[in-house]
Amino acid sequence: MPIYTAPTKDMQFILHDMLKATETGIPGYDDLDRDFTAAILGEAGKLATDVLAPLNASGDAEGCRLENGIVYTPKGFKAAFEAVKEGGWNGLDLPEEFGGQNLPYVMGCAVGEVFCSANMALNMYQGLTHGAINALVSHGTDAQKATYLPKMVSMEWTGTMNLTEPHCGTDLGMIRTKADPQEDGSYLITGQKIFISAGDHDMAENIIHLVLAKAPGGGEGTKGISLFVVPKYVINDDGTLGERNGVSVGSIEEKMGIHGNATCVLNYDGARGWLVGELHKGMRAMFVMMNEARLGVGLQGYAQAEAAYQNAVAYAKDRLQGRAVTGAVNKDGPADPLIVHPDIRRSLMDQKSFVEGARAFTFWGAHLIDRAHRLGDKEADAMISLLTPVIKGFQTDMGFDMAVQAQQVYGGHGYIEEWGMSQFVRDARIAMIYEGANGVQALDLVGRKLAVDGGKPAMAFFEMVKSFIKENEGQEALKADFLEPLKNASKDLQTAMMYFMQNGMKNPNAALAGSNDFMHLFGHVCLGLMWARMGLAAQNALDAGTGDAAFYETKLATGRYYMARHLPATGMHLARIQSGADTVMALPAEAF
Ligand SMILES: Cc1cc2nc3c(=O)[nH]c(=O)nc-3n(C[C@H](O)[C@H](O)[C@H](O)COP(=O)(O)OP(=O)(O)OC[C@H]3O[C@@H](n4cnc5c(N)ncnc54)[C@H](O)[C@@H]3O)c2cc1C
Repeated sequence: MPIYTAPTKDMQFILHDMLKATETGIPGYDDLDRDFTAAILGEAGKLATDVLAPLNASGDAEGCRLENGIVYTPKGFKAAFEAVKEGGWNGLDLPEEFGGQNLPYVMGCAVGEVFCSANMALNMYQGLTHGAINALVSHGTDAQKATYLPKMVSMEWTGTMNLTEPHCGTDLGMIRTKADPQEDGSYLITGQKIFISAGDHDMAENIIHLVLAKAPGGGEGTKGISLFVVPKYVINDDGTLGERNGVSVGSIEEKMGIHGNATCVLNYDGARGWLVGELHKGMRAMFVMMNEARLGVGLQGYAQAEAAYQNAVAYAKDRLQGRAVTGAVNKDGPADPLIVHPDIRRSLMDQKSFVEGARAFTFWGAHLIDRAHRLGDKEADAMISLLTPVIKGFQTDMGFDMAVQAQQVYGGHGYIEEWGMSQFVRDARIAMIYEGANGVQALDLVGRKLAVDGGKPAMAFFEMVKSFIKENEGQEALKADFLEPLKNASKDLQTAMMYFMQNGMKNPNAALAGSNDFMHLFGHVCLGLMWARMGLAAQNALDAGTGDAAFYETKLATGRYYMARHLPATGMHLARIQSGADTVMALPAEAF
């Protein structure tokens, strides 16, 4: 069975050495001292290793099943869900007034990574609930908040997000689900939603669906869409569960991964729903929590790579094949362990340097969200808005690639289900698709985010990189290995942006043919920046002679690897972008 241990030491390094949590001045961060965060991460890690991870493979093998209209989750899921609920983990970063603990979002992310690495399918029931809670906190009426939020924060009730229909996923303007207004102010919702994660299950008393539908009087396309709350069981005035609402499970999708999460076809047949937020402004309400939801999916990408990596390391140390080219290491054995081979090392370093960089990027992103929410910092808000498609798209593409690399370390045994490596690959794959497929993330980045506010957030990003390099150019230990590569990569990014500015208006295809490359180019620069910041933090700790020197030396060596071996990809992405759309669009559709 695959192993999993929470990487608490690395998380502590990012929170305290890199982000310097207690010095940020963000309300709530002053509580985040090393002992406090160690206690939280330690408890989360224990739950993940002892309870959640042991159910990952069995949940994958068994999957969910639909019997007589009821969805059953795999054996053990209910008890594990109870353990998460009892521990109050769902409310960690949610408002106190609804039963949460109001810790910063960055802590919610850290714990979320641990639970997701241990068991992504199970963690998604909680993740979707979190998304629905955020929508209600931002847009619900006081009465809706009082009715739904305490039970959702405590996880007695879970939540779902219903956007997709059979004929529309990306292009939500084509939604057909209808909302008919009733005299009592409610609506009757009719239509079919597909692919609804955690759409139904046997672990909670009630399920609160947030549904996009069209009410009369709205315009065409996305403008006419409104958001509704549709509970599986209607809530009585006294808060008890009332009659079963007109929503039922048509089927559970058979799919490639996350088998323990019920992906449902939901049929709404005159189900009673209530408007959330303004009429015909449902997209705005749904997308208000987009930064967090997309960051959460970006997190899933590297969290699966982390779990796969941990197993690949253990296997590479254990499996004996061939001899080291520089002379036998395991002289008394029949062969040396895989880890002696440079190509296996390359693969493990690829994985390790990506995962640790992505973790830093995600925590930094979460810290920007905390700055925006808790300090009202508009620049942080603009920055995270720019970076969100990068976090989501780049990290899930790379996370999948790294899970494949971890699987490759096992050779044929990686392809055999017995070792559990195929599950990491299969589970990681969905993060590239849902919450806006990655091609659409790239489109959002190039087509919208770069131009926001006359390009100010993008300029602020370049300025931040430039000033980091300038402030630290006196650091001889970092100059050649960290600062120079970062400077060059950032230059590639600026050149690419300039190319879009000069060519995008007259030939939009030229910009969009390069959008995927731009998202990856941007992702590498962000991880390069993270590695430079982590390199600085590690070097400072070494200079001060505090802490675990071996850990900091390892950090620096891993960072040097990222800068030398991953970051040069920016040059390739730039060359592709500058080649424009001619070769991409050369063939007529009939030639394919
Ligand atoms: C397991 C699973 C769980 C899911 N959970 C949920 C959920 O909980 N709630 C929910 O509402 N939905 C959910 N989804 C749906 C998911 O969000 C959609 O599948 C996704 O948004 C893509 O929509 P689509 O499948 O219709 O693909 P399409 O929109 O048909 O897109 C197909 C491809 O074309 C690309 N594309 C589309 N438009 C453009 C464009 N303008 N320019 C360039 N490329 C474009 C896309 O990137 C994609 O690669 C889930 C899906 C799966 C498989």
